[in-house]
Amino acid sequence: SARILDGRMIGRAIRNRIKTDVAELSELASATPGLAVILIGDDPASRVYVTNKMKACADVGIRSTLIEYPKDVPAEALIQSIERLNDDPTIHGILVQLPLPPHHDVRAVLHAISIEKDVDGFHLYNVGGLVVGDTIFSPCTPFGVMKILDHARIPVEGRNVTIVGASNIVGKPMALMMMRRDATVAVCHAKTRDLAQYTILADILVVAAGVPNLILPQMVRTGAVVIDVGINRLPDGRLVGDVDFEGVSRKASFITPVPGGVGPMTVTMLLVNTLSAARRFVEQTHGPIPAPVHPEDITQ
Ligand code: NAD
Repeated sequence: SARILDGRMIGRAIRNRIKTDVAELSELASATPGLAVILIGDDPASRVYVTNKMKACADVGIRSTLIEYPKDVPAEALIQSIERLNDDPTIHGILVQLPLPPHHDVRAVLHAISIEKDVDGFHLYNVGGLVVGDTIFSPCTPFGVMKILDHARIPVEGRNVTIVGASNIVGKPMALMMMRRDATVAVCHAKTRDLAQYTILADILVVAAGVPNLILPQMVRTGAVVIDVGINRLPDGRLVGDVDFEGVSRKASFITPVPGGVGPMTVTMLLVNTLSAARRFVEQTHGPIPAPVHPEDITQ
Protein backbone atom coordinates (compact mmCIF):
# COMPACT_ATOMS: atom_id res chain seq x y z
CA SER A 1 0.00 0.00 0.00
CA ALA A 2 1.02 3.58 -0.69
CA ARG A 3 3.50 5.57 1.35
CA ILE A 4 2.03 8.73 2.81
CA LEU A 5 3.49 12.04 1.68
CA ASP A 6 3.15 13.97 4.93
CA GLY A 7 2.79 17.67 4.05
CA ARG A 8 2.64 18.66 7.70
CA MET A 9 6.00 17.10 8.40
CA ILE A 10 7.68 18.40 5.23
CA GLY A 11 6.18 21.84 5.85
CA ARG A 12 7.36 21.89 9.45
CA ALA A 13 10.92 21.07 8.41
CA ILE A 14 10.95 23.86 5.83
CA ARG A 15 9.39 26.33 8.31
CA ASN A 16 12.05 25.56 10.90
CA ARG A 17 14.74 26.36 8.37
CA ILE A 18 12.94 29.51 7.21
CA LYS A 19 12.84 30.68 10.80
CA THR A 20 16.65 30.60 10.88
CA ASP A 21 16.88 32.51 7.61
CA VAL A 22 14.34 35.11 8.75
CA ALA A 23 16.30 35.68 11.96
CA GLU A 24 19.54 35.94 10.04
CA LEU A 25 18.10 38.45 7.58
CA SER A 26 16.72 40.54 10.43
CA GLU A 27 20.14 40.60 12.03
CA LEU A 28 22.07 41.17 8.82
CA ALA A 29 20.06 44.01 7.39
CA SER A 30 17.71 44.83 10.25
CA ALA A 31 14.93 43.97 7.84
CA THR A 32 12.23 41.74 9.24
CA PRO A 33 10.20 40.25 6.37
CA GLY A 34 6.76 41.88 6.31
CA LEU A 35 3.57 40.56 4.72
CA ALA A 36 0.38 42.58 4.20
CA VAL A 37 -2.81 40.56 3.94
CA ILE A 38 -5.90 42.21 2.47
CA LEU A 39 -9.23 40.67 3.36
CA ILE A 40 -12.39 41.95 1.69
CA GLY A 41 -15.86 41.03 2.90
CA ASP A 42 -16.90 38.53 5.54
CA ASP A 43 -16.50 35.07 4.04
CA PRO A 44 -15.84 32.81 7.06
CA ALA A 45 -13.61 30.37 5.13
CA SER A 46 -11.44 33.25 3.87
CA ARG A 47 -11.09 34.51 7.43
CA VAL A 48 -9.91 31.08 8.59
CA TYR A 49 -7.33 30.95 5.78
CA VAL A 50 -6.09 34.45 6.60
CA THR A 51 -5.80 33.63 10.31
CA ASN A 52 -3.81 30.47 9.51
CA LYS A 53 -1.45 32.33 7.19
CA MET A 54 -0.82 35.08 9.76
CA LYS A 55 -0.22 32.57 12.52
CA ALA A 56 2.26 30.71 10.30
CA CYS A 57 4.06 34.03 9.69
CA ALA A 58 4.29 34.74 13.42
CA ASP A 59 5.71 31.25 14.04
CA VAL A 60 8.72 31.93 11.78
CA GLY A 61 9.24 35.59 12.73
CA ILE A 62 7.62 37.20 9.68
CA ARG A 63 5.67 40.33 10.58
CA SER A 64 2.16 40.36 9.11
CA THR A 65 -0.45 43.09 8.93
CA LEU A 66 -4.13 42.52 8.25
CA ILE A 67 -6.00 45.15 6.26
CA GLU A 68 -9.74 44.63 6.17
CA TYR A 69 -12.39 46.15 3.94
CA PRO A 70 -16.15 45.72 3.80
CA LYS A 71 -17.39 43.81 0.75
CA ASP A 72 -18.64 46.98 -0.96
CA VAL A 73 -15.31 48.88 -0.71
CA PRO A 74 -14.91 51.04 -3.83
CA ALA A 75 -12.36 49.76 -6.35
CA GLU A 76 -10.34 53.02 -6.16
CA ALA A 77 -9.92 52.74 -2.39
CA LEU A 78 -8.69 49.18 -2.74
CA ILE A 79 -6.22 50.05 -5.50
CA GLN A 80 -4.94 53.05 -3.52
CA SER A 81 -4.41 50.87 -0.49
CA ILE A 82 -2.39 48.41 -2.58
CA GLU A 83 -0.34 51.26 -4.05
CA ARG A 84 0.49 52.52 -0.55
CA LEU A 85 1.70 49.03 0.35
CA ASN A 86 3.74 48.89 -2.88
CA ASP A 87 5.59 51.99 -1.67
CA ASP A 88 5.97 50.85 1.94
CA PRO A 89 9.58 49.67 2.56
CA THR A 90 8.54 47.60 5.60
CA ILE A 91 6.16 45.49 3.49
CA HIS A 92 7.81 42.88 1.24
CA GLY A 93 4.82 40.76 0.28
CA ILE A 94 1.20 41.65 -0.50
CA LEU A 95 -1.54 39.06 -0.55
CA VAL A 96 -5.16 39.66 -1.47
CA GLN A 97 -7.26 36.82 -0.11
CA LEU A 98 -9.40 35.26 -2.85
CA PRO A 99 -12.16 34.86 -3.80
CA LEU A 100 -13.20 38.52 -3.87
CA PRO A 101 -16.88 39.40 -3.37
CA PRO A 102 -18.68 39.06 -6.76
CA HIS A 103 -18.70 42.60 -8.24
CA HIS A 104 -14.93 43.14 -7.85
CA ASP A 105 -12.57 42.99 -10.82
CA VAL A 106 -10.08 40.36 -9.62
CA ARG A 107 -7.58 40.96 -12.44
CA ALA A 108 -7.49 44.72 -11.82
CA VAL A 109 -6.86 44.18 -8.11
CA LEU A 110 -4.14 41.55 -8.62
CA HIS A 111 -2.39 43.63 -11.27
CA ALA A 112 -2.15 46.61 -8.90
CA ILE A 113 0.27 44.59 -6.75
CA SER A 114 3.93 45.32 -7.50
CA ILE A 115 5.45 42.24 -9.18
CA GLU A 116 8.26 42.37 -6.61
CA LYS A 117 5.71 41.93 -3.80
CA ASP A 118 3.39 39.46 -5.55
CA VAL A 119 4.00 36.57 -3.15
CA ASP A 120 0.91 34.67 -4.37
CA GLY A 121 2.32 34.75 -7.91
CA PHE A 122 -0.99 35.78 -9.50
CA HIS A 123 0.15 38.95 -11.28
CA LEU A 124 0.26 38.55 -15.10
CA TYR A 125 4.03 39.06 -15.05
CA ASN A 126 4.56 36.09 -12.75
CA VAL A 127 1.94 34.02 -14.58
CA GLY A 128 3.70 34.75 -17.88
CA GLY A 129 7.04 34.02 -16.26
CA LEU A 130 5.87 30.45 -15.67
CA VAL A 131 5.60 30.02 -19.44
CA VAL A 132 9.04 31.38 -20.35
CA GLY A 133 10.81 30.28 -17.17
CA ASP A 134 11.63 33.41 -15.23
CA THR A 135 9.07 34.01 -12.53
CA ILE A 136 9.90 36.01 -9.44
CA PHE A 137 7.32 34.06 -7.42
CA SER A 138 5.58 30.77 -8.14
CA PRO A 139 2.00 30.30 -6.94
CA CYS A 140 2.01 28.65 -3.53
CA THR A 141 -0.12 25.54 -4.07
CA PRO A 142 1.61 24.11 -7.16
CA PHE A 143 4.97 25.24 -5.74
CA GLY A 144 4.14 23.22 -2.61
CA VAL A 145 3.31 20.18 -4.74
CA MET A 146 6.74 20.39 -6.42
CA LYS A 147 8.42 20.60 -3.00
CA ILE A 148 6.56 17.49 -1.80
CA LEU A 149 7.78 15.55 -4.86
CA ASP A 150 11.34 16.84 -4.47
CA HIS A 151 11.39 16.03 -0.78
CA ALA A 152 10.39 12.42 -1.52
CA ARG A 153 12.93 12.33 -4.39
CA ILE A 154 10.21 11.52 -6.88
CA PRO A 155 11.55 12.35 -10.35
CA VAL A 156 9.43 14.45 -12.70
CA GLU A 157 11.54 14.59 -15.86
CA GLY A 158 10.15 12.51 -18.68
CA ARG A 159 7.22 11.22 -16.66
CA ASN A 160 3.56 11.27 -17.56
CA VAL A 161 1.79 13.81 -15.39
CA THR A 162 -1.99 14.16 -15.51
CA ILE A 163 -3.55 17.17 -13.82
CA VAL A 164 -7.26 17.11 -13.09
CA GLY A 165 -8.50 20.71 -12.77
CA ALA A 166 -7.47 23.71 -14.87
CA SER A 167 -8.00 26.72 -12.61
CA ASN A 168 -5.75 29.77 -12.73
CA ILE A 169 -4.59 29.23 -9.15
CA VAL A 170 -3.85 25.49 -9.21
CA GLY A 171 -4.28 23.42 -12.38
CA LYS A 172 -2.81 25.72 -15.03
CA PRO A 173 0.28 26.87 -13.09
CA MET A 174 0.81 23.26 -11.99
CA ALA A 175 0.87 22.20 -15.65
CA LEU A 176 3.41 24.90 -16.51
CA MET A 177 5.66 24.02 -13.58
CA MET A 178 5.59 20.35 -14.58
CA MET A 179 6.43 21.27 -18.19
CA ARG A 180 9.32 23.36 -16.98
CA ARG A 181 10.65 20.20 -15.34
CA ASP A 182 10.27 18.27 -18.62
CA ALA A 183 7.28 16.15 -17.73
CA THR A 184 4.74 15.12 -20.37
CA VAL A 185 1.59 16.84 -19.21
CA ALA A 186 -2.13 16.26 -19.75
CA VAL A 187 -4.60 18.75 -18.27
CA CYS A 188 -8.20 17.63 -17.68
CA HIS A 189 -11.22 19.65 -16.59
CA ALA A 190 -14.98 19.48 -16.22
CA LYS A 191 -15.50 19.17 -20.00
CA THR A 192 -12.96 16.37 -20.46
CA ARG A 193 -14.55 13.30 -22.03
CA ASP A 194 -13.44 10.03 -20.44
CA LEU A 195 -11.32 11.35 -17.58
CA ALA A 196 -10.07 7.83 -16.75
CA GLN A 197 -8.37 7.55 -20.14
CA TYR A 198 -5.99 10.30 -19.01
CA THR A 199 -5.66 9.50 -15.32
CA ILE A 200 -4.70 5.87 -16.01
CA LEU A 201 -1.65 7.06 -18.00
CA ALA A 202 -0.27 9.10 -15.13
CA ASP A 203 2.98 8.31 -13.34
CA ILE A 204 2.11 11.38 -11.27
CA LEU A 205 -1.55 12.31 -10.87
CA VAL A 206 -2.39 15.74 -9.42
CA VAL A 207 -6.05 16.28 -8.62
CA ALA A 208 -7.51 19.74 -7.98
CA ALA A 209 -11.17 19.66 -9.00
CA GLY A 210 -13.06 20.12 -5.73
CA VAL A 211 -15.16 16.96 -6.23
CA PRO A 212 -15.11 14.31 -3.47
CA ASN A 213 -14.38 10.76 -4.69
CA LEU A 214 -13.72 11.91 -8.24
CA ILE A 215 -10.70 9.60 -8.50
CA LEU A 216 -11.43 5.91 -7.95
CA PRO A 217 -8.90 3.04 -7.81
CA GLN A 218 -9.70 1.77 -11.32
CA MET A 219 -8.67 5.17 -12.71
CA VAL A 220 -5.15 4.95 -11.26
CA ARG A 221 -2.14 3.06 -12.62
CA THR A 222 -0.49 0.64 -10.17
CA GLY A 223 2.50 2.38 -8.60
CA ALA A 224 1.38 5.92 -9.50
CA VAL A 225 2.13 8.92 -7.30
CA VAL A 226 -1.16 10.60 -6.32
CA ILE A 227 -1.30 14.21 -5.12
CA ASP A 228 -4.72 15.26 -3.85
CA VAL A 229 -5.11 19.05 -3.77
CA GLY A 230 -8.89 19.03 -3.23
CA ILE A 231 -10.42 20.22 0.02
CA ASN A 232 -14.11 19.37 0.41
CA ARG A 233 -16.33 19.66 3.47
CA LEU A 234 -18.83 16.77 3.57
CA PRO A 235 -22.34 17.29 5.02
CA ASP A 236 -21.25 15.34 8.13
CA GLY A 237 -18.46 17.89 8.69
CA ARG A 238 -15.57 15.68 7.56
CA LEU A 239 -12.83 17.19 5.39
CA VAL A 240 -11.91 15.07 2.35
CA GLY A 241 -9.96 15.47 -0.88
CA ASP A 242 -10.94 14.55 -4.44
CA VAL A 243 -9.43 11.05 -4.26
CA ASP A 244 -10.94 7.88 -2.78
CA PHE A 245 -8.08 7.70 -0.31
CA GLU A 246 -8.72 4.15 1.01
CA GLY A 247 -9.14 2.55 -2.39
CA VAL A 248 -6.43 4.45 -4.25
CA SER A 249 -3.91 3.90 -1.39
CA ARG A 250 -3.93 0.21 -2.30
CA LYS A 251 -2.70 0.91 -5.85
CA ALA A 252 -0.56 4.03 -5.59
CA SER A 253 3.11 4.06 -4.57
CA PHE A 254 2.76 7.46 -2.81
CA ILE A 255 -0.29 9.48 -1.82
CA THR A 256 -1.02 12.76 -0.01
CA PRO A 257 -3.68 12.69 2.73
CA VAL A 258 -6.40 15.34 3.18
CA PRO A 259 -6.03 17.09 5.54
CA GLY A 260 -2.26 17.08 6.13
CA GLY A 261 -1.00 16.89 2.54
CA VAL A 262 -0.91 19.83 0.16
CA GLY A 263 -2.71 22.29 2.48
CA PRO A 264 0.12 22.86 4.97
CA MET A 265 2.58 23.13 2.06
CA THR A 266 0.60 25.97 0.49
CA VAL A 267 0.98 28.07 3.62
CA THR A 268 4.65 27.09 3.89
CA MET A 269 5.33 28.29 0.35
CA LEU A 270 3.77 31.64 1.18
CA LEU A 271 6.40 31.97 3.91
CA VAL A 272 9.10 30.93 1.45
CA ASN A 273 7.95 33.54 -1.07
CA THR A 274 7.77 36.26 1.58
CA LEU A 275 11.31 35.48 2.72
CA SER A 276 12.46 35.58 -0.93
CA ALA A 277 10.72 38.92 -1.42
CA ALA A 278 12.42 40.39 1.65
CA ARG A 279 15.82 39.08 0.55
CA ARG A 280 15.29 40.60 -2.90
CA PHE A 281 14.35 43.94 -1.37
CA VAL A 282 17.41 43.97 0.89
CA GLU A 283 19.68 43.08 -2.04
CA GLN A 284 18.23 45.83 -4.17
CA THR A 285 18.53 48.48 -1.48
CA HIS A 286 21.69 47.40 0.44
CA GLY A 287 23.57 45.30 -2.11
CA PRO A 288 24.49 41.58 -2.05
CA ILE A 289 23.87 39.50 1.08
CA PRO A 290 25.12 35.98 1.89
CA ALA A 291 23.10 33.05 0.49
CA PRO A 292 20.38 31.72 2.79
CA VAL A 293 21.32 28.81 5.04
CA HIS A 294 19.01 26.56 3.01
CA PRO A 295 18.92 27.87 -0.56
CA GLU A 296 17.11 24.73 -1.73
CA ASP A 297 14.01 25.79 0.21
CA ILE A 298 13.52 29.02 -1.67
CA THR A 299 14.63 27.71 -5.08
CA GLN A 300 11.70 27.46 -7.46
P1 NAD B 1 -11.87 25.78 -9.26
O1 NAD B 1 -13.30 25.50 -8.93
O2 NAD B 1 -11.43 27.13 -9.63
O3 NAD B 1 -11.43 24.81 -10.47
C1 NAD B 1 -11.80 23.46 -10.51
C2 NAD B 1 -11.28 22.82 -11.77
O4 NAD B 1 -11.66 21.44 -11.75
C3 NAD B 1 -11.89 23.41 -13.04
O5 NAD B 1 -10.90 23.48 -14.06
C4 NAD B 1 -12.97 22.40 -13.43
O6 NAD B 1 -13.19 22.34 -14.83
C5 NAD B 1 -12.36 21.10 -12.91
N1 NAD B 1 -13.39 20.11 -12.60
C6 NAD B 1 -14.52 20.30 -11.87
N2 NAD B 1 -15.24 19.16 -11.84
C7 NAD B 1 -14.54 18.24 -12.56
C8 NAD B 1 -14.80 16.91 -12.91
N3 NAD B 1 -15.90 16.28 -12.51
N4 NAD B 1 -13.88 16.27 -13.67
C9 NAD B 1 -12.76 16.90 -14.08
N5 NAD B 1 -12.48 18.19 -13.78
C10 NAD B 1 -13.36 18.84 -13.03
O7 NAD B 1 -11.06 25.21 -8.03
P2 NAD B 1 -9.56 25.48 -7.50
O8 NAD B 1 -9.52 26.80 -6.87
O9 NAD B 1 -8.57 25.12 -8.55
O10 NAD B 1 -9.49 24.39 -6.35
C11 NAD B 1 -9.68 23.02 -6.61
C12 NAD B 1 -9.75 22.25 -5.31
O11 NAD B 1 -8.52 22.41 -4.64
C13 NAD B 1 -10.82 22.76 -4.33
O12 NAD B 1 -11.28 21.65 -3.60
C14 NAD B 1 -10.05 23.68 -3.43
O13 NAD B 1 -10.64 23.79 -2.15
C15 NAD B 1 -8.74 22.99 -3.36
N6 NAD B 1 -7.60 23.87 -3.08
C16 NAD B 1 -6.72 23.43 -2.16
C17 NAD B 1 -5.61 24.17 -1.86
C18 NAD B 1 -4.63 23.64 -0.87
O14 NAD B 1 -3.85 24.39 -0.35
N7 NAD B 1 -4.64 22.34 -0.59
C19 NAD B 1 -5.37 25.38 -2.51
C20 NAD B 1 -6.28 25.81 -3.48
C21 NAD B 1 -7.39 25.02 -3.77
